[in-house]
Amino acid sequence: MKDQFQRNIDYLRVSVTDRCNLRCKYCMPNGVCPVTHEEVLRYDEVLRLVRLFARLGITHVRVTGGEPLVRKDVVELVAGLKQTEGIRTVSMTTNGTLLPKFGEELQKAGLDSVNISLDTTDEDLAAAITGQSGVVALVEESVALMQRLNIPVKLNAVLLKETEASMANVARFAERGVPVRFIELMPIGSGAGMAGLSSAEALLALRRAYPDLHPAKEHLGFGPARYFESARLKAPIGLIDAVSHRFCASCNRVRLTSTGVLKPCLCFDEGRALAPLLRGGADDEALLFAMRACIYKKPLQHCFDAPEGVTEHKLMSQIGG
Ligand code: SAM
Ligand code: SF4
Repeated sequence: MKDQFQRNIDYLRVSVTDRCNLRCKYCMPNGVCPVTHEEVLRYDEVLRLVRLFARLGITHVRVTGGEPLVRKDVVELVAGLKQTEGIRTVSMTTNGTLLPKFGEELQKAGLDSVNISLDTTDEDLAAAITGQSGVVALVEESVALMQRLNIPVKLNAVLLKETEASMANVARFAERGVPVRFIELMPIGSGAGMAGLSSAEALLALRRAYPDLHPAKEHLGFGPARYFESARLKAPIGLIDAVSHRFCASCNRVRLTSTGVLKPCLCFDEGRALAPLLRGGADDEALLFAMRACIYKKPLQHCFDAPEGVTEHKLMSQIGG
């Protein structure tokens, strides 16, 4: 459906849990804020909502969290989403540490693609960022598994001052055919007040490693990344610069939190709590009415360039980053 600014909203990010096995310092360094199991939507509830979202024009669903692979039986949810009429692609964003365990089941469930988050290839620095050792090796293993299973995989790296020196090593995954996207740190959750790198600084650092880096002719996927290519790269490198290059005018996404809040924009603490309707016996028409009204009122743009205007104070893991 179209929102009030005529943007076509066809992409839903579904958070299945606020929990995570890592403690990334810009996300949830001190662990989760407790949400009871009862508060978290059951899979049958998520699937009912997604059936309705599909009627409103959602065609792409991304399963995220928290860490989606720490939630029990998430593979079954993926299979259910894949069978939902109108849903064309189901993808997942994960820290990759549990993919070696679940990769084959996810392939059987029909998962279309995976984004793995990895900020640095330096194992010590990764441990300092995520609170867990061995993350880089697990991500390497996961990437190799996804390639073997023919599940398209991309890497996402948040741009931090402390990872600038190892950026080019992360970019080297693109030499092996894995697209790598560098994402500006957003002033959300523990990211607020932390030192990030801008996409311009990142591009300078990348051009030191790949002097011929130039804008790619073709866009990859339907997301907001600006892609670049080089003769030495088998896959493009992307920059997702939500902070320095606002791309709200073409934003096509909304989010469903693990507790069933429909969130039209990352930046603001606005949303429609769908769980009380779902659990209060609302019929499909009542749910559709609430969803439609919330999507229609999606804000024009975020205000990450003026963080005092950011009213969303929850952690990225609670929003479904
Ligand atoms: N646990 C999964 C993962 O790490 O990929 C999925 C959830 S995580 C919240 C989704 C993405 O949000 C990750 O790529 C993470 O790096 C990113 N993220 C978390 N906090 C962020 C922030 N303040 N600014 C930019 N990206 C952030
Ligand atoms: Fe966990 Fe992902 Fe947040 Fe890191 S970014 S703490 S992996 S939810």
